[in-house]
Amino acid sequence: MPGLDVEELPDISGRLPGPALAGELADLPLGGLDEHALIEAMRAARRLTSWAESLELSAIAELDRRRSVQADRYGAWTVEMGRALCDEVSAALTLSGTAAVIRLGMATMLEGPLLETGRALAQGRIDAGKARVICDGVLGVSHDIARKVEALVLPDAPRLTTRQLAGRVRTAIKDADPDAYERRRKAAEKGRRVELYDNPDGTADLAARDLPAEDADAAYNYLNALANALKADGDQRPIDAIRADVVLELLRGKRPQDLFPAAAEPEQAPTPGTPAAPEDTAAAPQDTASSASDIPAVTSREADSEAAAETAGLVAEARASQRPTGPGGTRRNDSPRPGRTGGDTGREEAAAMTQAIRDELSDLFGQTRHRGGPAEKRLLVAEAARRIKDALSPLKVRWCALAVDPEGNLVHGHDAYRPPAGMRRLIQTRDGTCTFPTCNRRAAKCDLDHTIPYHKGGPTCPCNVATLCRGHHLLKQHPDWTLIHIWPGVLLWISPTGHWYLVGPAP
Ligand SMILES: [Zn+2]
Ligand SMILES: [Zn+2]
Repeated sequence: MPGLDVEELPDISGRLPGPALAGELADLPLGGLDEHALIEAMRAARRLTSWAESLELSAIAELDRRRSVQADRYGAWTVEMGRALCDEVSAALTLSGTAAVIRLGMATMLEGPLLETGRALAQGRIDAGKARVICDGVLGVSHDIARKVEALVLPDAPRLTTRQLAGRVRTAIKDADPDAYERRRKAAEKGRRVELYDNPDGTADLAARDLPAEDADAAYNYLNALANALKADGDQRPIDAIRADVVLELLRGKRPQDLFPAAAEPEQAPTPGTPAAPEDTAAAPQDTASSASDIPAVTSREADSEAAAETAGLVAEARASQRPTGPGGTRRNDSPRPGRTGGDTGREEAAAMTQAIRDELSDLFGQTRHRGGPAEKRLLVAEAARRIKDALSPLKVRWCALAVDPEGNLVHGHDAYRPPAGMRRLIQTRDGTCTFPTCNRRAAKCDLDHTIPYHKGGPTCPCNVATLCRGHHLLKQHPDWTLIHIWPGVLLWISPTGHWYLVGPAP
């Protein structure tokens, strides 16, 4: 950069992170720096990130301390406060529940037994990834052992990668407390499992986790041997692809000897794209068939009655809106996924409504700092949400379960606590997952929750029933959380601090 006097630039190398360094770094003309200075700028930015992470964790630890004090007020809720705080952190930082648990665990450990690690993070000597490795490493050991391990691994931590550091921590724990190491290994093995994830590119990951290490090694060696033999046999696929294909073929029931072309009998070889598990494919069409046969019966009866009254029109419309969607197109025998279903479940309308309600609430509460403490803020948001709900109420009947009783009165909601099958499917399809903002638990594995409880007059109706997993079902009952079902499928969570989270289907 012409005219730039490098000597006049602030020297940021090795400086402790904080507001002064942040300001100077932000002002540095990167284009005018030499390469040595650029590396120093990277390092300074990394130290600032660590410092900011440390601030975030300190705020979490402070909230945790206050919640612990408040827990006494709630008696039975005391044991649930930790979990409720994780949900609060999860919603506030848009972290998964698991990530929030990890954050909270780190926050308390860095201000407890791992004080020096916390200091190293605040000073930017290590990053949050390394701090987490040390925290994870000493889980379940006594504070004395934790401090001993910390003293052993922390001095070298700044120049090790997280993986190298994890190795050091493992060795240190094994030496310092072999029993704890063994207990943790066994506990982890108890949680062994297989997980399946969707990837954004349309592929999926299938992973077996927390296996006994020796068994996993043996299985991997066997897989490698098969893949290498196929390669030696002239297989043209890359070795990684062979291994992946062999895993799939073995798990889908193919015998190892049938993997080799010479041994394969063409009529027995599965064609690519064969549906996965037989149970899955059997269950899905049955479900579709039964629901499809239900619907015409209901709608034709209604058509026969030819009731011209507007209420009957509403009934028909509401019933039609509850037409269950067949699970066609979903890969698993599980709840249909958001965005992949046909039929009208109110998703699209709910998605549009979510945006409109969010805009409205943001206008009311986005910029203004309302006076008063968390309790007043909670009340203000709840009042506004209930006003919006009331205003929208006449428009939502299209999605409501309406019936006419023998006296000719219009009755709102199904006449029982349990939603009928059609309504259940409609709600599960509409919601897709648990309706807590950061929860991905599939709707089929959730409870159907009456937002306003049935015994308090809440109707069994798509406008008052939504999917909640067990944990968030419990959170809903927390005295300082409020849940309002503003529109069928659009729910507002108000946290103990008065922060609000609107949940609805994605557009
Ligand atoms: Zn309703
Ligand atoms: Zn949930």
